[in-house]
Amino acid sequence: MRIVLIGPPGAGKGTQCRRLSAQLDVPHLSTGEMLRATKSNPELGPIVSGFIDDGNLAPDELVMRILTDRLQEDDCAAGYLLDGFPRTVAQAQMLDEYLSAKEQHLDAVLELDVDREVLIRRLLDRAQKENRADDTEQTIHHRLRVFFDVTAPVLDYYREKGLLRKVDGEQSLDQVFESLVRALGEIH
Ligand code: ADP
Repeated sequence: MRIVLIGPPGAGKGTQCRRLSAQLDVPHLSTGEMLRATKSNPELGPIVSGFIDDGNLAPDELVMRILTDRLQEDDCAAGYLLDGFPRTVAQAQMLDEYLSAKEQHLDAVLELDVDREVLIRRLLDRAQKENRADDTEQTIHHRLRVFFDVTAPVLDYYREKGLLRKVDGEQSLDQVFESLVRALGEIH
Protein backbone atom coordinates (compact mmCIF):
# COMPACT_ATOMS: atom_id res chain seq x y z
CA MET A 1 0.00 0.00 0.00
CA ARG A 2 1.35 3.43 -0.96
CA ILE A 3 -0.25 6.12 1.11
CA VAL A 4 0.27 9.84 1.56
CA LEU A 5 -0.79 11.68 4.71
CA ILE A 6 -1.17 15.45 4.35
CA GLY A 7 -1.93 17.91 7.09
CA PRO A 8 -0.75 21.30 8.33
CA PRO A 9 2.05 21.64 10.88
CA GLY A 10 0.65 20.62 14.25
CA ALA A 11 -2.08 18.39 12.78
CA GLY A 12 -0.54 15.30 14.39
CA LYS A 13 0.81 13.67 11.24
CA GLY A 14 3.91 12.26 12.92
CA THR A 15 2.01 10.56 15.74
CA GLN A 16 -0.65 9.11 13.46
CA CYS A 17 1.91 7.97 10.89
CA ARG A 18 3.87 6.02 13.50
CA ARG A 19 0.69 4.18 14.50
CA LEU A 20 -0.52 3.66 10.92
CA SER A 21 2.88 2.40 9.85
CA ALA A 22 2.76 -0.28 12.56
CA GLN A 23 -0.83 -1.17 11.73
CA LEU A 24 -0.23 -1.47 7.98
CA ASP A 25 3.29 -2.87 8.33
CA VAL A 26 4.84 -0.39 5.89
CA PRO A 27 7.69 2.04 6.61
CA HIS A 28 6.89 5.59 7.73
CA LEU A 29 8.84 8.05 5.59
CA SER A 30 8.94 11.61 6.88
CA THR A 31 10.70 14.09 4.60
CA GLY A 32 10.90 16.49 7.57
CA GLU A 33 12.92 13.87 9.50
CA MET A 34 15.04 13.07 6.44
CA LEU A 35 15.83 16.75 5.96
CA ARG A 36 16.62 17.27 9.64
CA ALA A 37 19.00 14.29 9.40
CA THR A 38 20.93 16.02 6.59
CA LYS A 39 21.64 18.96 8.93
CA SER A 40 24.84 17.20 10.03
CA ASN A 41 26.03 16.83 6.42
CA PRO A 42 28.84 19.37 5.86
CA GLU A 43 27.69 20.32 2.34
CA LEU A 44 23.90 20.01 2.46
CA GLY A 45 23.46 20.77 6.15
CA PRO A 46 23.82 24.55 6.17
CA ILE A 47 21.61 24.92 3.09
CA VAL A 48 18.85 22.70 4.44
CA SER A 49 18.98 24.29 7.92
CA GLY A 50 18.46 27.68 6.33
CA PHE A 51 15.16 26.61 4.80
CA ILE A 52 13.81 24.59 7.70
CA ASP A 53 14.71 26.96 10.52
CA ASP A 54 13.02 29.87 8.74
CA GLY A 55 9.88 27.80 8.16
CA ASN A 56 10.34 27.69 4.39
CA LEU A 57 10.15 24.63 2.17
CA ALA A 58 13.33 22.99 0.96
CA PRO A 59 13.70 22.97 -2.86
CA ASP A 60 11.54 20.38 -4.65
CA GLU A 61 14.42 18.68 -6.50
CA LEU A 62 16.46 18.29 -3.33
CA VAL A 63 13.59 16.75 -1.37
CA MET A 64 12.66 14.52 -4.29
CA ARG A 65 16.24 13.25 -4.54
CA ILE A 66 16.45 12.46 -0.83
CA LEU A 67 13.05 10.74 -0.90
CA THR A 68 13.62 8.65 -4.03
CA ASP A 69 16.96 7.40 -2.63
CA ARG A 70 14.99 6.11 0.33
CA LEU A 71 12.22 4.63 -1.84
CA GLN A 72 14.79 2.39 -3.60
CA GLU A 73 15.48 0.53 -0.37
CA ASP A 74 14.12 -3.01 0.01
CA ASP A 75 11.73 -2.26 2.84
CA CYS A 76 9.75 0.07 0.54
CA ALA A 77 9.02 -2.64 -2.03
CA ALA A 78 5.61 -3.54 -0.59
CA GLY A 79 4.59 0.05 0.08
CA TYR A 80 5.12 2.99 2.40
CA LEU A 81 3.45 5.82 4.19
CA LEU A 82 4.60 9.29 3.16
CA ASP A 83 4.50 11.99 5.84
CA GLY A 84 5.14 15.59 4.79
CA PHE A 85 5.51 14.80 1.10
CA PRO A 86 4.34 16.02 -1.37
CA ARG A 87 4.10 19.58 -0.07
CA THR A 88 3.88 21.31 -3.46
CA VAL A 89 1.96 20.48 -6.64
CA ALA A 90 5.35 20.15 -8.39
CA GLN A 91 6.37 17.47 -5.87
CA ALA A 92 3.06 15.67 -6.40
CA GLN A 93 3.69 15.67 -10.15
CA MET A 94 7.27 14.41 -9.68
CA LEU A 95 5.97 11.62 -7.47
CA ASP A 96 3.39 10.66 -10.10
CA GLU A 97 6.09 10.51 -12.75
CA TYR A 98 8.36 8.47 -10.51
CA LEU A 99 5.55 6.00 -9.75
CA SER A 100 4.26 5.67 -13.30
CA ALA A 101 7.80 4.92 -14.53
CA LYS A 102 7.66 1.96 -12.16
CA GLU A 103 4.08 1.11 -13.14
CA GLN A 104 3.00 1.88 -9.61
CA HIS A 105 0.40 4.22 -8.15
CA LEU A 106 -0.75 5.70 -4.86
CA ASP A 107 -3.60 3.88 -3.12
CA ALA A 108 -4.87 6.81 -1.10
CA VAL A 109 -4.16 10.30 0.15
CA LEU A 110 -5.35 11.06 3.66
CA GLU A 111 -6.00 14.63 4.74
CA LEU A 112 -5.82 15.54 8.42
CA ASP A 113 -8.12 18.51 8.78
CA VAL A 114 -7.52 20.88 11.72
CA ASP A 115 -8.66 24.47 12.20
CA ARG A 116 -5.97 27.16 12.04
CA GLU A 117 -6.68 28.44 15.60
CA VAL A 118 -6.31 24.95 17.03
CA LEU A 119 -3.04 24.48 15.15
CA ILE A 120 -1.56 27.70 16.51
CA ARG A 121 -2.45 26.66 20.05
CA ARG A 122 -0.95 23.18 19.61
CA LEU A 123 2.24 24.47 17.99
CA LEU A 124 2.87 27.10 20.65
CA ASP A 125 2.39 24.41 23.26
CA ARG A 126 4.84 22.09 21.45
CA ALA A 127 7.33 24.96 21.11
CA GLN A 128 7.50 25.26 24.90
CA LYS A 129 7.94 21.52 25.39
CA GLU A 130 10.26 20.43 22.57
CA ASN A 131 12.47 23.39 21.75
CA ARG A 132 12.50 22.73 17.97
CA ALA A 133 14.35 25.50 16.09
CA ASP A 134 11.37 25.98 13.72
CA ASP A 135 8.77 26.24 16.50
CA THR A 136 9.07 29.93 17.38
CA GLU A 137 5.88 32.02 17.27
CA GLN A 138 6.91 33.89 14.13
CA THR A 139 7.96 30.74 12.29
CA ILE A 140 4.78 28.95 13.32
CA HIS A 141 2.63 31.60 11.61
CA HIS A 142 4.89 31.48 8.56
CA ARG A 143 4.77 27.67 8.28
CA LEU A 144 0.98 27.72 8.51
CA ARG A 145 0.83 30.35 5.77
CA VAL A 146 3.13 28.21 3.60
CA PHE A 147 0.85 25.24 4.21
CA PHE A 148 -2.39 27.02 3.31
CA ASP A 149 -0.85 28.82 0.30
CA VAL A 150 1.44 26.19 -1.19
CA THR A 151 0.41 22.78 0.14
CA ALA A 152 -3.38 23.14 0.19
CA PRO A 153 -3.45 23.05 -3.67
CA VAL A 154 -1.93 19.56 -3.42
CA LEU A 155 -5.18 18.48 -1.73
CA ASP A 156 -7.15 19.75 -4.74
CA TYR A 157 -4.75 17.91 -7.04
CA TYR A 158 -5.51 14.59 -5.33
CA ARG A 159 -9.21 15.36 -4.87
CA GLU A 160 -9.54 15.68 -8.63
CA LYS A 161 -7.88 12.29 -9.01
CA GLY A 162 -10.41 10.76 -6.60
CA LEU A 163 -7.67 9.73 -4.13
CA LEU A 164 -8.39 12.11 -1.25
CA ARG A 165 -9.98 11.00 2.04
CA LYS A 166 -10.51 13.73 4.63
CA VAL A 167 -10.38 12.98 8.34
CA ASP A 168 -11.28 15.28 11.25
CA GLY A 169 -7.96 15.87 13.03
CA GLU A 170 -9.55 17.63 16.02
CA GLN A 171 -10.81 14.40 17.56
CA SER A 172 -8.83 12.54 20.23
CA LEU A 173 -5.66 10.74 19.06
CA ASP A 174 -7.44 7.37 19.19
CA GLN A 175 -10.47 8.66 17.31
CA VAL A 176 -8.29 10.20 14.61
CA PHE A 177 -6.43 6.93 14.24
CA GLU A 178 -9.70 4.97 13.95
CA SER A 179 -11.00 7.42 11.35
CA LEU A 180 -7.81 7.06 9.31
CA VAL A 181 -8.01 3.27 9.42
CA ARG A 182 -11.68 3.44 8.45
CA ALA A 183 -10.90 5.78 5.55
CA LEU A 184 -8.30 3.31 4.32
CA GLY A 185 -10.75 0.42 4.69
CA GLU A 186 -13.03 2.16 2.21
CA ILE A 187 -10.48 2.10 -0.61
CA HIS A 188 -10.72 -1.62 -1.32
P1 ADP B 1 5.72 19.98 10.32
O1 ADP B 1 4.69 19.14 9.66
O2 ADP B 1 5.48 20.15 11.79
O3 ADP B 1 5.96 21.28 9.61
P2 ADP B 1 7.90 18.35 9.24
O4 ADP B 1 8.83 17.56 10.07
O5 ADP B 1 7.00 17.62 8.32
O6 ADP B 1 7.11 19.23 10.29
O7 ADP B 1 8.73 19.40 8.36
C1 ADP B 1 9.65 20.30 8.91
C2 ADP B 1 10.24 21.19 7.83
O8 ADP B 1 10.97 20.38 6.88
C3 ADP B 1 9.24 21.96 6.96
O9 ADP B 1 8.80 23.15 7.57
C4 ADP B 1 10.07 22.22 5.70
O10 ADP B 1 11.01 23.26 5.90
C5 ADP B 1 10.87 20.93 5.56
N1 ADP B 1 10.17 19.95 4.69
C6 ADP B 1 9.63 18.77 5.08
N2 ADP B 1 9.08 18.13 4.04
C7 ADP B 1 9.27 18.91 2.96
C8 ADP B 1 8.92 18.81 1.58
N3 ADP B 1 8.23 17.76 1.11
N4 ADP B 1 9.29 19.82 0.75
C9 ADP B 1 9.98 20.87 1.21
N5 ADP B 1 10.33 21.05 2.48
C10 ADP B 1 9.98 20.08 3.37
